This record gives sequence, structure tokens and C-alpha cells, in this order.
Amino acid sequence: MSPKTFQDLVEEVHEKGICQECGGCVSFCSSVDYNVIGFIEGKSHPVYIDKDKCLECGICYYICPQTHILDEDLNQTYKFTDFNTMLLGHFESINSCQSTDDDFLKHGTDGGVVNSIINHLLEKKVIDGAIVSKTKTPFSRKAKFAENKVDLIAASGIVLDMSSQLDEIQKFSTYTHTIAKLNRYKFKKLAIVGTPCQIYTIRCMQSLGVIPSENIELCLGLFCYENFIFDKLKMEKFRRDFNVRVEDIEKINVREDLMFKVKDNGGHKTTHIPFDQLNDYMRPACNACNDFTNVYADISFGGLGSNEGFTTAIPRTEKGKKILMNAINEGVITCLELNLDEKKETKELLMRYSQLKLERKENYMKHLT
Ligand SMILES: Cc1cc2nc3c(=O)[nH]c(=O)nc-3n(C[C@H](O)[C@H](O)[C@H](O)COP(=O)(O)OP(=O)(O)OC[C@H]3O[C@@H](n4cnc5c(N)ncnc54)[C@H](O)[C@@H]3O)c2cc1C
Ligand code: SF4
Ligand code: SF4
Ligand code: SF4
Repeated sequence: MSPKTFQDLVEEVHEKGICQECGGCVSFCSSVDYNVIGFIEGKSHPVYIDKDKCLECGICYYICPQTHILDEDLNQTYKFTDFNTMLLGHFESINSCQSTDDDFLKHGTDGGVVNSIINHLLEKKVIDGAIVSKTKTPFSRKAKFAENKVDLIAASGIVLDMSSQLDEIQKFSTYTHTIAKLNRYKFKKLAIVGTPCQIYTIRCMQSLGVIPSENIELCLGLFCYENFIFDKLKMEKFRRDFNVRVEDIEKINVREDLMFKVKDNGGHKTTHIPFDQLNDYMRPACNACNDFTNVYADISFGGLGSNEGFTTAIPRTEKGKKILMNAINEGVITCLELNLDEKKETKELLMRYSQLKLERKENYMKHLT
């Protein structure tokens, strides 16, 4: 039987409308230097650019988060032993953390923990750089190679003018070209920040031992319930639906719902919009995704389960555990000591959202077939 190729992704993934736009196939294509496949304007999935140069190696098919070919291998590597670990992933502990650095805390999405940890690893020379994400235009983000604190702050900055408020919304857009950047940094030790679909692809590449995935020292995963498309028309609709004026938005967070901190009569107020009211804004392919807490990351991070200004951090691998512990011991971040009831409550909350996401996928896939 001949190996599957990108043509099979077209038929089994793109034509069903379930491409997650993680960028993995484009970045790790064996013929990457020849631009065999790529994203083009107006398409929500990659396309063949030069089909004749396709080596028909099947890599793109193997690593796609929608084919699930390597799930079993990954589940073994990442110690998924029963339904609960399948749902929430293997984890060492659940922590509620905050950066001790005022700059990271001020610019951070939640507790500024992700960038603080990266900064710590850069200072200790554990990594040479990190692939984070920076706003490119009001409607797109692109990967940024961060080598120091200034780069990290630049990648998380919030500037209050019209375009950057839209930029804030774009913070939640997945297609960041993040993974595509990897090939440029073949000889460096990297950390990478990514959504579950992106981290999955990287783990597949590591499992296959394909260059340059061995350079990735650390996968820092963000929780992700869903992602949004906010173009100009959607922003107008959003204003009508929720009475939130774009120019008033100061900050956006995603946790148990979508939260907008907006200017209000010289002060501020926070508006919460439940996910189930956001269907018109959600990227359709996110319906076909079942990983909420980024189960294959070294450490997963999200706002859910923590108070405002704190980040929930879940170390999953030995490496992740050590890095988080070092960051705590060296005063880079602080961690709230949760009592047993609080730990149970947080775990149940994360389970609930993971279960909801799984059920959403199951329903969505039923309607596709
Ligand atoms: C698309 C998306 C959806 C999310 N959904 C949820 C959710 O449903 N529930 C929840 O609890 N948390 C969610 N999060 C995670 C949450 O918003 C915070 O990112 C997380 O809590 C870490 O906060 P922090 O302050 O510690 O990170 P920070 O220290 O602020 O660092 C955040 C890092 O993430 C990078 N980054 C930002 N956007 C992207 C992107 N699109 N792709 C890759 N890297 C990026 C930044 O460059 C920065 O390095 C989501 C994040 C994203 C990007
Ligand atoms: S060369 Fe391999 S990885 Fe690239 S498109 Fe063809 S089958 Fe996919
Ligand atoms: S989900 Fe990712 S790997 Fe699969 S086709 Fe879409 S961009 Fe490529
Ligand atoms: S829900 Fe998040 S992880 Fe899943 S496909 Fe959408 S952006 Fe990717």
C-alpha cells in the first residue's frame, strides 16, 4: 500500500472542514525548502503550491492532529493509562502561580508565568531562545524568536489604541506560523509556546525523530477551549450582540468564558461572555478538537482554575516538573498552596471543560459523517 500523502489530508481533513490550521504539515514537510505546500490568503487550510515536488513521504499525514495515527505511541510516552489521563493528561500536580516580576505580571495574559519561566531558562542558558507569538497586523500574529526579556515583553505587550485592541483579540488566533519558524533555528535549544494542536504536531515529529524537532527542549502548552475569528464584520456584529465597543477593550482573557476588561465611565468593568454564545465567532475546526489542557506539553498553562492575576500550571513530564520547581525555588514565580478541597475542585473544573470539549467533538464529528 502506498503511503498516505498530502492529497489524503486534502480529502480526509480539509474537505471535511476540520483542519486546525496548526501549521505542522507545512513546517515539517520533507520538501519544505521547495514550498510544496503552504497557506494562501483566503483559505483556512494549507494547499498544494507545487504538487510535482511532493516526495509522497507521508510525514504531513502522520503528524496531523486530525489523523490521530500516532496517538497510541504518544499516549504510551506520556503515560496515559486510563480514561481520566486520556482526558486530562498525565500530570504531577496542579498549581496556581504568579510571576514575581512586575513587568511580566503587568503584560501577562494571566499571571505572566509562561514568559517568566522562559526568561528564567534564557538567563540560565538552559535554552538559546523561545518561539513565542507576536502580533503582526490587526488580523494576524506571527512567531517571534525571543532571546531576552525585552523580546518576551514585546511579544506580550498591550498597547491601548484602536488597532492593538484588535491585536489583543488576535492573541487568541491559532495560526501564528509558530511551528514554521522551527526550521530556521535548527541548531539551537528551544522552548516553544503553543496551543494543543501545535504541541501535538511537535510531539509527533519528536516521536518520528524528524529534524529539527530534537532541538525543542521544552513544550509550553496553553489551555485552549476554542479559538475565534474576529474580522471587521465580526467585530461589528460583536458590538451589536454584546454591546462591547472595540475601542473600549483594554484586555481579553479566556478562562471559563471569554472576558473583556473595558473602559467604563472613567473606570473599568469586566464583561463575561460564555462560550456557548460565541458560536458565530468560533473557528469551525475547533469543534473537531478534543484537547483542552494541552495534554502532551511539558507544562500546561491556563487561567481556568486560578484567581485573576494567576496562572494554573500543570507540570506533566519530569523535565516540566523540574523547571517549574526551579522557577519557584529561585523566586521567579510564586505558587499558592492549595488545600485538598481546592485541589479537588480545580481538578474537577478542568475535567469538566475537558469533558465538554470531548463531547462537543463527538457531536460535531457525528454530523460530518
Ligand atoms: C488561542 C488561545 C486560547 C486559550 N484558551 C484558553 C481557555 O479556554 N481557558 C484558559 O484557561 N486558558 C486559555 N488560554 C491560555 C491563557 O489565555 C494564557 O495564555 C495562559 O493562562 C498563560 O498566561 P500567562 O499570563 O502565564 O502567560 P504569559 O506570560 O502572558 O505568556 C503567554 C505566552 O503565550 C504566547 N502566545 C500568545 N498567543 C499565542 C498563540 N496564539 N499561539 C502561541 N503562543 C501564543 C505569548 O507570546 C507568550 O509567550 C488560551 C490561550 C490561547 C493563545
Ligand atoms: S513531501 Fe511528504 S510531507 Fe511534504 S507534502 Fe508531500 S507527502 Fe507531505
Ligand atoms: S490540522 Fe495542521 S497538520 Fe493537519 S492539515 Fe491542518 S495545518 Fe496541516
Ligand atoms: S481548540 Fe485550540 S487547540 Fe483545538 S484546534 Fe482550536 S485552536 Fe487548536
